[in-house]
Amino acid sequence: MAVSGAPRCGSIRESTNPYENAVQQLEIVADRLGLDEGLLQVLSYPQRELTVNFPVKMDDGTTRVFKGYRVQHNCARGPAKGGIRYSPTAGLDEVRALAMWMTWKCALVSIPFGGAKGGVMCDSRALSLGELERLTRRYTTAISVVLGPNRDIPAPDAGTNPQVMGWIMDTYSMHQGFTVPAVVTGKPISIGGSEGRVEATGRGIVIAAERVAHDLGVRLQDATIAVQGLGNVGAAAASLFAQMGARVVGLCDVQGGVYNEAGVDVQAAIDRTRRGESLQDAGLGDSISSAELLELPVDILVPAATENQITQANAGRVRARAIVEGANGPTTPVADRILCERGVLLVPDILANAGGVIVSYFEWVQDLQSFFWSEVEVNDRMKRMLLQAYDAVAAMAKAEKVNLRTAAYLIGVQRVAEATKVRGIYP
Ligand code: NAD
Repeated sequence: MAVSGAPRCGSIRESTNPYENAVQQLEIVADRLGLDEGLLQVLSYPQRELTVNFPVKMDDGTTRVFKGYRVQHNCARGPAKGGIRYSPTAGLDEVRALAMWMTWKCALVSIPFGGAKGGVMCDSRALSLGELERLTRRYTTAISVVLGPNRDIPAPDAGTNPQVMGWIMDTYSMHQGFTVPAVVTGKPISIGGSEGRVEATGRGIVIAAERVAHDLGVRLQDATIAVQGLGNVGAAAASLFAQMGARVVGLCDVQGGVYNEAGVDVQAAIDRTRRGESLQDAGLGDSISSAELLELPVDILVPAATENQITQANAGRVRARAIVEGANGPTTPVADRILCERGVLLVPDILANAGGVIVSYFEWVQDLQSFFWSEVEVNDRMKRMLLQAYDAVAAMAKAEKVNLRTAAYLIGVQRVAEATKVRGIYP
């Protein structure tokens, strides 16, 4: 029997459901690519979804049950690859969308992976280190039936970090009876992590921003920049921007942000965020909200926090000349159209933040070969692969007269569709 409730969206409409938005983005290119209805259905649904409810012993002696997911969207081009997110709002549709975006991203940058994502509904900041470790180990055990270096390879995402990846690697390895470094990427270097992985996503964003600045006719060093989110991605990007001499005039995290026309002291801001302190009232600049940061008059805006930040409601007020998406899904499809009509240049998530998964791929390759590269090699190879994808997207956008997101989807979806078709349907 066919899957009921097919997630067809028809014409574009505003939604805060990330999966609905991901399907809308797919549908935008489906007609242009001539995908038949059957293939479109195959690509619209994740091929595997695992939901787990698992117990964790808390420090106060009680037991709490947490809900987690691992979703594999499409593995036609290789093993599933994608981050694990710890967040109070990590629901199934969010994880489905993130898995689908991973599929297109891996195809776009020509790395041999399918797309996956995982999530646990929890507030990791409210857990002690011991609780976080026990939660991670039990979640890993619960989803280990679908993991493996040739099956599905997790990585960090919002709310997780190299230590969490280290626990995942150790837990999986304990079950196997031997060490399996290639089962996860974004690990600490001491257990098979790659040089350059921690900053890779932020570094990729800066590489994309350099291209964008060129298109805007400014040098990156002379550009003004605002970054929303100061976590794994935003902090690395902001600090690389500052190191290159660009003027980061706006920064914020979930507690709010600051604006300073002369440039915010990026390192001081990151230090405060890491200590859990507010950026506001610390002498870094004028206090602004996260929503106000999105409307600052800057050359380049980098939303690097979470989904649905630029929507139908505020897209008309965005004053940035260009947007480089650090987060996954920060712009809804309706906002995308508004920005496009207003001439705002937008580098889409599946291209702009692909530096992370490219270096995760390098980490997997290094682990499988037990042969490790220098940081310079890692950074150089990543830059080459990212710029190759950027050039292909820019050329497609020009040839098809579409924006960069649609161009990126035309390439990514086409590659996955081709692989899915050529493999055929078994049995
Ligand atoms: P993180 O948890 O390390 O950091 C998130 C940051 O965003 C924090 O500073 C938090 O305070 C801030 N934030 C959250 N909600 C906010 C809001 N409403 N307004 C302002 N700030 C807010 O997460 P991360 O790993 O940096 O991931 C951020 C985004 O980048 C996510 O969309 C993730 O999927 C995407 N991404 C991450 C990676 C990676 O390698 N970690 C790779 C590609 C894409």
